[in-house]
Amino acid sequence: APDPTLRAAPLPEDADRALRPQGLDEFIGQAEARANLAVFIESARRREAAMDHTLFHGPPGLGKTTLAQIMARELGVNFRMTSGPVLAKAGDLAAILTNLEARDVLFIDEIHRLNPVVEEVLYPALEDFELDLVIGEGPAARTVRIELQPFTLVGATTRLGLLTTPLRDRFGIPTRLQFYTVEELHQIVTRGARLLNIACDEAGAREIATRARGTPRIAGRLLRRVVDFALVEGDGTITAALADNALTRLGVDKLGLDGADRRYLTLIAENYQGGPVGIETMSAALSESRDALEEVIEPYLLQTGMIQRTPRGRMLAARAWSHLGLPPPAAPGQ
Ligand code: ADP
Repeated sequence: APDPTLRAAPLPEDADRALRPQGLDEFIGQAEARANLAVFIESARRREAAMDHTLFHGPPGLGKTTLAQIMARELGVNFRMTSGPVLAKAGDLAAILTNLEARDVLFIDEIHRLNPVVEEVLYPALEDFELDLVIGEGPAARTVRIELQPFTLVGATTRLGLLTTPLRDRFGIPTRLQFYTVEELHQIVTRGARLLNIACDEAGAREIATRARGTPRIAGRLLRRVVDFALVEGDGTITAALADNALTRLGVDKLGLDGADRRYLTLIAENYQGGPVGIETMSAALSESRDALEEVIEPYLLQTGMIQRTPRGRMLAARAWSHLGLPPPAAPGQ
């Protein structure tokens, strides 16, 4: 029977599987992480051993899943994928672990959301490739030890701070992924256009790259939408003017901020005079979960210097006022 805890289908937004780089040499950006991974992969191959457990952390859409898949391919092993919230019971994890072949890569997305009971079972599996399972209940309960094949766990998280220390400590290769530069995104968009068979000039690719919030997943999504406009309303070629027009109609502004970002900034500006305002208040006022604000919206606003996080809450930076076209409030006493 198919294992319901393993995701068979890719996420809808990754329907652009055609755009996913297949090898490390095709992967653009993250130069430092890539160079290190190349060494660790090659070493594991030469030692004919499972590669050490690897943790990717950073905002969504930066390539964590892609890198995990590339690792499996370059190591020449199977890739199995699941996620923290899906592994409800210890047995769910046990079923996956006992089915791994030697040196396989097991990818656990959102690993900060593992159930603590499941996490306990994971520790000996990571350390000694052993599983201690409790069979039965009450006085008849007994523990059985199951030997596992050596494997590589690749964990991904958008929230490193939510990982327990013991779990964090079990990753030999912690790797932080960074936002991409416009130059790197420009290469990613150019490559994507080539794979999608659409003509895209240099300035057109740059227009998309500068508005992709430092994130390849967003670059891919924007590229697909611009392709739609190019085919239906243009002559099939992506130019700067066409991309600008399409992205503006989609509500993506010159800096790549979308409606949700602007609602966030406008709320602090208009209702809280620039802040500070607490995250829970923001969450209630915007009807967005705190997690969505902290994982998806805020990282890029912090990175671009639009907001600051202070102990008393979020504050708008000068750049945000000018971006919103609003005058900053006068300092007290002026
Ligand atoms: P994450 O797991 O960090 O959320 P993914 O690995 O799913 O991100 O990547 C999101 C999308 O971005 C994928 O569809 C992939 O094709 C694309 N992508 C990610 N990194 C790169 C890269 N370096 N070059 C080209 N495309 C990339």
